Amino acid sequence: MTLYRLPPLPTIREIIKLYNLRAEKQLSQNFLLDLKLTDKIVRKAGNLKNAYVCEVGPGPGGITRAILNTGVEELLVVEKDTRFIPGLKMLNEASLGKVRIVHGDILTYRMDRAFPNHLKKAWEDDPPNVHIIGNLPFNVSTPLIIKWLEEMANRTGPFTYGRTPMTLTFQCEVAQRMTAPTGGKQRSRLSIMTQYLCQVKHCFSIPGRAFVPKPEVDVGVVHFTPLIKPKIDQPFKLIEKVVQSVFQLRRKYCYRGVSLLFPEEQRTQLTEQILTLANVEPTLRPSELSMKHFQGLCNAYRELCDRDPSLFSYNFREELRQKKKMKGQDIQINEESETL
Ligand code: SAM
Repeated sequence: MTLYRLPPLPTIREIIKLYNLRAEKQLSQNFLLDLKLTDKIVRKAGNLKNAYVCEVGPGPGGITRAILNTGVEELLVVEKDTRFIPGLKMLNEASLGKVRIVHGDILTYRMDRAFPNHLKKAWEDDPPNVHIIGNLPFNVSTPLIIKWLEEMANRTGPFTYGRTPMTLTFQCEVAQRMTAPTGGKQRSRLSIMTQYLCQVKHCFSIPGRAFVPKPEVDVGVVHFTPLIKPKIDQPFKLIEKVVQSVFQLRRKYCYRGVSLLFPEEQRTQLTEQILTLANVEPTLRPSELSMKHFQGLCNAYRELCDRDPSLFSYNFREELRQKKKMKGQDIQINEESETL
């Protein structure tokens, strides 16, 4: 039973009409009007009673209403498009001042200052009483999660408050990549970068037809809880570099991608060394490598970089770019360069 009902309000469809909120293709706006679905997304965030929640991209406010109905203490909404502000102000009045409206861009908004300091918890503690929820456009949600994963690793941004959980939507394929197991078809760079830092769950999928206007693809709702102890104990940038190299040649044996970490003149020797140190079979495919394998590769790469610090600045893509430039060719890194 929900105890905290908002007073009767115009429906989201009426709000859209009232404020003439045509979805902007340019901002990839797709609205959720089905209250059963907005409630279902919000339930996946867990118990929000008395919680401090940040909703990213509230738009006409479907998910916003579902969040307010859970009895939150405060709801911070960050919305880029001015047209939605009057509708959000109306929700603020209806909820007796629980909504704090920020008209801004979530990619630049200072999440480390978003909530009161007393909510901060130690990393090893239970997650703080802070949650992030959002149905963002796909062209924003992917760069945003990459930024937030790095901030999670560094305990900055929204993770200044501790292990802040997040419930976000993605294009289904991206949700599948984030959650793909070892050997899975969708196993990719994003699977490793997400899973080394978080417990991640693809909660459910929403068919494109549930949105207005209908997007080309289905949508996955993903829940993230940062792990107390990341599965790889190395700096984010180092892990990112190793993972990117390995998946650079995703259909080849993994030693091929691993070898791209090293300058040509030392490539054969150092590739052999790293694989031996990491105990990784060179003929496994990138998708067959487990988190333990990546942990071994990152630790071994770190060891090699500690021995020769110039190694870390070597960048295969940069070298290729330079070579192509010198030959006056178009840049085409390779035909099977991986998708994130
Ligand atoms: N949450 C609403 C819903 O589920 O119906 C709207 C979803 S719509 C896919 C995405 C919303 O995010 C839009 O309101 C859009 O204006 C907003 N938005 C897009 N880019 C943003 C950004 N960088 N920062 C904040 N909001 C953004």
